[in-house]
Amino acid sequence: MLGAIEAGGTKFVCAVGDETGKILDRVQIPTTVPSETIPQVLAFFRKYQIKAIGIGSFGPIDVNLGSATYGNITSTPKPGWKDYPFVHEIKNALSVPVGFNTDVNAAALGEAIFGAAKGLDSCLYITVGTGIGAGAVIQGNLLQGLSHPEMGHILVRRHPEDRYVGKCPYHSDCLEGLAAGPAIEERWGTKGVDLVGRDEVWDMEGYYIAQALMQYILILSPKKIILGGGVMNQQQVFPYVYTYLQEFLNDYVSLPELSKYIVSPGLANHSGIIGSLLLAERALKEV
Ligand code: ADP
Ligand code: ZN
Repeated sequence: MLGAIEAGGTKFVCAVGDETGKILDRVQIPTTVPSETIPQVLAFFRKYQIKAIGIGSFGPIDVNLGSATYGNITSTPKPGWKDYPFVHEIKNALSVPVGFNTDVNAAALGEAIFGAAKGLDSCLYITVGTGIGAGAVIQGNLLQGLSHPEMGHILVRRHPEDRYVGKCPYHSDCLEGLAAGPAIEERWGTKGVDLVGRDEVWDMEGYYIAQALMQYILILSPKKIILGGGVMNQQQVFPYVYTYLQEFLNDYVSLPELSKYIVSPGLANHSGIIGSLLLAERALKEV
């Protein structure tokens, strides 16, 4: 049996399952401070005999195996979690191999093995939610360099009619600053769920997402693109994304039919937790 943790800013999803992606038990624990959240996480896993555990975590995190702070959450504003030695604490308590990566890299892995990109050795998973983040499987491996990618913070060209200043505390009008859920809410004065019939909202959203996808396609050439996260529940964004992407790329690269190439997650909202099970499996193989 394998363990998996999808560690998010509002909740932790913990599960036990196997390498086929089957989940046998799961629990949700609110993300408060580590001294409250982690003991509940450990209590869940102690009920089972797990061989390894995979963590897909909110970030930024240190994923560099050679680093002294490997396995830590690094610079989050969330009280108590900055510099939290996540892998160290879990490994100490449960004495099993621990796989560790970003929530979006875990989701990309889950989708590549069992979801919308099943059978492909590459895909990109993007979440458009409280923030924007992306993970990538490229030639079967999770994309990693100095650290993990931070594709949500790329610069985009402003929509000519967008006067909103942007929400990102670091860059103001980067992609996340202009197109994540909180930016939509602040620009239009109400939450995304309440803006369903407002075409201009989703047109602008599509304009920004399409620009990002253009960059990702040109740089990474993924075989499938998966758009998840709360905002993408607004299915009407997809046609705007296709139209703008077509316009921006202008046939420079040949792509599959866009409605089959850029899709919703195949695993609904389980991509991250199933991907984390796969991180556990990989950690087990590495020992
Ligand atoms: P998180 O990113 O925190 O894991 P979500 O992916 O659910 O969680 O993203 C939450 C953000 O997405 C919020 O800003 C919320 O307003 C927005 N959101 C959630 N559901 C919807 C929806 N159905 N339509 C539009 N926006 C939504
Ligand atoms: Zn930013």
